[in-house]
Amino acid sequence: MSTPTVPTLMYHHVSPLDGGHCVHPDRLREQLAWLRKEQIQILTGTQFRRFCTGEWRPAGRAVVLTFDDGWLDNWVYALPVLREFAAPAVFFVVTSWPGAGQPRLDLNPDNWPGFGHAECMKRSASESQRDDVVMRWSELRAAQDTGLVELQSHSHSHGGWWAGVSASRGSLDSVASDLLRSRDRLQSELGVVADQLCWPRGEFTGAMQKAARELGFQVQHSTLRGANEWGTSPTRVVRRLHIENRPLDWFVSRIELYSRSWRAAALGWCHQELQRVRMRRRHPGVWNQHGGLGAHWWRLV
Ligand SMILES: [Zn+2]
Repeated sequence: MSTPTVPTLMYHHVSPLDGGHCVHPDRLREQLAWLRKEQIQILTGTQFRRFCTGEWRPAGRAVVLTFDDGWLDNWVYALPVLREFAAPAVFFVVTSWPGAGQPRLDLNPDNWPGFGHAECMKRSASESQRDDVVMRWSELRAAQDTGLVELQSHSHSHGGWWAGVSASRGSLDSVASDLLRSRDRLQSELGVVADQLCWPRGEFTGAMQKAARELGFQVQHSTLRGANEWGTSPTRVVRRLHIENRPLDWFVSRIELYSRSWRAAALGWCHQELQRVRMRRRHPGVWNQHGGLGAHWWRLV
């Protein structure tokens, strides 16, 4: 039996604001309605892990919904839409960001417009303003309690390990300790044993991938485009489609494009090569010492 590839959809913000990384709640609603109409199954995080490790496969076409960073707009705008469609999703949490306090049940689309991505990034960097833009632990717990949302790691520091690193070993140790902290935090706050990781900013090397695998992250999500084939973990990272705030036609064409194995593979290969050049330019020291270019990256990604 041939198994279709599974496109993994990557969202960040859901709110009525315009701007990059932001999908309007009505667009999300029409996307989920289309998936339902086409009988495309939305996998839970656990089902997707089992698909990646080759333990299970869906009967027909399927996708996965992922939301990065744990923004407050996910609580106000995305969660109600997910509940409306009983759609499962994976939220990737930057575990140093969520604050304490009760769930903000008073926030709703009528009184809270949200913040754009740039403002969210700015406030997330400030301890005193972070709570304005990021979900609290109590909200993450409430999202988890719906039975729809699985919470997984997006590291502890959102890739803070890149700051100032120049050589491989030190950086690899700091990556491992950061990921371990993230895992511990998810367990202590939410009782979650994280087995999926989303690499912050999509930046990683083969050595980092191996270190994460040794810590128990069986499924690792990237920002590389493409679709995912059955049984390809742990040798490959998950490829994802960045979902933009565009009309339904665009969404449909992307799902169709990345549901076909050879096309997804060809497009994914092109995107991977671009990412390789970008990584080499941004982090040359780490990149070269983490196993070099070529075969290592090719084999692992
Ligand atoms: Zn992120």
